[in-house]
Amino acid sequence: MKKFRLTFYVFIFIILHLVSWGSSFSIFDVSTEDFNTCIESNSINDTTISQLILTPTNSSFESVWQARINNLKFIQPTTLDHPSSPLQPTKPKFKPFSSAPRNSDVNVTSRTAWVQTGALLGELYYAISQKTNTLYFPAGICPTVGIGGYLSGGGYGNLVRKYGLGADHALDIRFVDVNGNILDRKSMGEDLFWALRGGGGGSFGIILAWKVGLVPVPEIVTVFRKNVTLEQNGTDIFYKYQYVAPRIDRDLTMRVQILSMLIENTTTKTIRMSFDGLYLGRMDTLLSLLDKRFPELNLTSASCEEVTMVQSSLVLGEPQYTSSTPTAMLANRTGIVRPWNSKQKSDYVRTPIPKSGLRKIWKKMFENDMTEMLMMYTFGGKMEEYADTALPYPHRAGVLYQVLKDVGFRDQTSDTTPVSLKRIEWLRSLEKLLEPYVSKNPREAYLNYNDLDLGVESDTYAEASVWGERYWKRANFKRLIRIKARVDPDNFFRHPQSIPIFSTSVSDM
Ligand SMILES: Cc1cc2nc3c(=O)[nH]c(=O)nc-3n(C[C@H](O)[C@H](O)[C@H](O)COP(=O)(O)OP(=O)(O)OC[C@H]3O[C@@H](n4cnc5c(N)ncnc54)[C@H](O)[C@@H]3O)c2cc1C
Repeated sequence: MKKFRLTFYVFIFIILHLVSWGSSFSIFDVSTEDFNTCIESNSINDTTISQLILTPTNSSFESVWQARINNLKFIQPTTLDHPSSPLQPTKPKFKPFSSAPRNSDVNVTSRTAWVQTGALLGELYYAISQKTNTLYFPAGICPTVGIGGYLSGGGYGNLVRKYGLGADHALDIRFVDVNGNILDRKSMGEDLFWALRGGGGGSFGIILAWKVGLVPVPEIVTVFRKNVTLEQNGTDIFYKYQYVAPRIDRDLTMRVQILSMLIENTTTKTIRMSFDGLYLGRMDTLLSLLDKRFPELNLTSASCEEVTMVQSSLVLGEPQYTSSTPTAMLANRTGIVRPWNSKQKSDYVRTPIPKSGLRKIWKKMFENDMTEMLMMYTFGGKMEEYADTALPYPHRAGVLYQVLKDVGFRDQTSDTTPVSLKRIEWLRSLEKLLEPYVSKNPREAYLNYNDLDLGVESDTYAEASVWGERYWKRANFKRLIRIKARVDPDNFFRHPQSIPIFSTSVSDM
């Protein structure tokens, strides 16, 4: 029995990474049906397992990691959730696994799709667009993000003001628990189903596939991009943005990308703000709406384009894509994979930052070496309708916008070079400077921008609450701990910021 249990655990570990990595390698391709058949029949044995050598020194280790993911932080040996034993099949075939675990089965009539967790968001968007132009899935901006981790953390995107989070539209899950049972929403119960929609990946078990609801979108939508610098009244425009964008018509979602740069042909720095957005309607309606509510932005037709919804994912998702890029590129992994090597931190703003505070932020940005980026992502709209406890993701009513703070290391060999470390220190000092202007008690953070600076692996609730309540707030964090204790009491599924297990009951905390 013990041997079986151990073999089973190894198998579960392998499946987790097959599901996660299968997306990039035909050798790892596994259909959900085959997984299910395989697990249900308990057909695993030591011979099957022994066909997989687990070794970080394997010659294709680097290529496996490089090709699987676009965030180079994951190739550091010390990284969060990095498997200690990358695996590599020693035989060219891995029967009975034969087809990719990244299919998106779209049903226009029922307005639903089953998406296997190896799929990237771009693949889902493309699959939907092959069947309809008037339905979509309200998910993230970058097409290279995986559906598995994205929905497990909640997931916001260009439709967040109209439809809320991606996880708000999850209808069912195919899930393997630590005992090898394959569960769906009904058999797992509403408690675990709640936890899986925002409690984070890697804490409860393995998700094989999500059933999601699709939402209506117009056949033609409008995208826009308007750049403004400090010399063009940027501070005043951003100040006004904070009041207008979270309260405007929910068909409009705007984000502001802010970075420092040199004024052309000078050595003087300025701040450039890029106001990008998606409007679920035609250009003329958008222009008259912004003319009334946000004339300071001075948006004209020259900065706008009417496109289909799937084209908007191209234009807003990847800087090198335009509306002329074939939409199939969303599903072309070799075309869209690019290194994303950066350190990120997040915050939520609930009260507009005064102009004096904005000027302090710009000044702080001038201290860095122009490798930083702040992305303000507007909330409000549909997000106001959800209680903080509706799902584990609690950053809902009252949030004006989410702040993503990022420093990049693309010009560095790693995130531990002296230059990279200096940038990380700068990011931490920015975090400190922002403290008076962002949410408090707790200072909220987005789980899907994992930040190990917040704390890791705690023995007591008091310790864990320092980071856990920032991601989930108290009520949700305690509920997640109770669910974790029930479904994975031996803490098999864990990483430095997974839901912890304590010796005392959470009700005593
Ligand atoms: C370039 C970029 C753009 C982004 N844009 C957005 C955005 O617009 N909106 C947004 O909300 N977030 C965004 N994010 C954050 C993103 O949601 C997280 O990085 C998310 O964790 C990515 O999921 P993944 O499956 O690609 O990553 P992975 O690293 O594979 O997984 C992340 C976590 O989920 C777990 N997990 C993955 N698959 C499964 C599974 N099948 N079963 C159980 N656990 C699983 C992993 O174990 C891990 O803990 C972005 C990130 C990047 C790098």
